Amino acid sequence: MSISNYPWQEEIWDRLRAMQDRLPHAMLFHGRPGIGKLHLAQTLAQSLLCEKRADRGLACGECPACVWFAAGNHPDFRMVQSEAMAPSPDEAELGEGVEDGKKKASKQIKIDQIRALGDFLNLGSHRNGYRVVLICPAESMNPGAANALLKSLEEPSAGVVFLLVSHQPTKLLATVRSRCHALPLSLPPRELSLRWLKDQDSRATPATLAFAGDAPLEAAALPEEEAETRRRLFDLLSQPASSALGLADFCQRLQPGAVVDWMLKWTYDLIALASNSRARYNIDYERKLGVLAQNMALPRLLRYYAALASLRAIAEHPLNARLFFDDLFISYKEIG
Ligand SMILES: [Zn+2]
Repeated sequence: MSISNYPWQEEIWDRLRAMQDRLPHAMLFHGRPGIGKLHLAQTLAQSLLCEKRADRGLACGECPACVWFAAGNHPDFRMVQSEAMAPSPDEAELGEGVEDGKKKASKQIKIDQIRALGDFLNLGSHRNGYRVVLICPAESMNPGAANALLKSLEEPSAGVVFLLVSHQPTKLLATVRSRCHALPLSLPPRELSLRWLKDQDSRATPATLAFAGDAPLEAAALPEEEAETRRRLFDLLSQPASSALGLADFCQRLQPGAVVDWMLKWTYDLIALASNSRARYNIDYERKLGVLAQNMALPRLLRYYAALASLRAIAEHPLNARLFFDDLFISYKEIG
């Protein structure tokens, strides 16, 4: 069976197909996490290596090249990721990774990993076709790795195609970015995502999709248990009487980073409603948020949002989680 794309990627696939006779030697797929950029890059890689392409230029899924690709050992394909990235493409797409139990796995792509491509790039193809290098996420290359890659991008070997996937292309070296043909991927239309989620038998609702910022893969991957905890926190936040210390108590055992992310979305919606707009992330709390926003001054909300955004950087490892949550919610309560 041929390898397919997500339904919202048909248009960009047709654009890629149109480019196949004069394929750029480096392409940069960029857009927010959870919309299938990595899957699209993998589909293209497999299609370039497939020896019996099916309809619409998609890989056949059956030829020897496709079998090797599926097993992760096609001799003309290299996947470059940080040690911390999980082998699962879905997790990688979401920018998550499984960490090694003993030693903390590096989140960077290092120079040795790019240098290790040397022979692959300099020797010819094993199957008389393309050689494909996929780098994901490209912004995790450290400066040494990015500079090493730049050399290969500046002097491309014939038949080599680099596919870079990036959630944050502005973090890439400008010189690397400028050597790549950019392919921006936008959020899929909500209707298409909801239909796809239903076809996957996902329990994600329109509210889940909205909370995931309309990114369908992220919506499909949100753990139900986590959603339940989040709703309990938002129910507490919806009650004007709940105290800052009570909220901090509730969060004690939660991941500070996750709580900051939730609060960013909660505050984003308060700002939207205080500005006479609609809730973007918490559509199931829109009415309650609207009531709360009536008593909140917009400048204070904006200041709180900015403070949350800067807290995000240290939220993974606060020195003292209890104090962290106390501060977070005392400042929140001061908005009103
Ligand atoms: Zn094939």
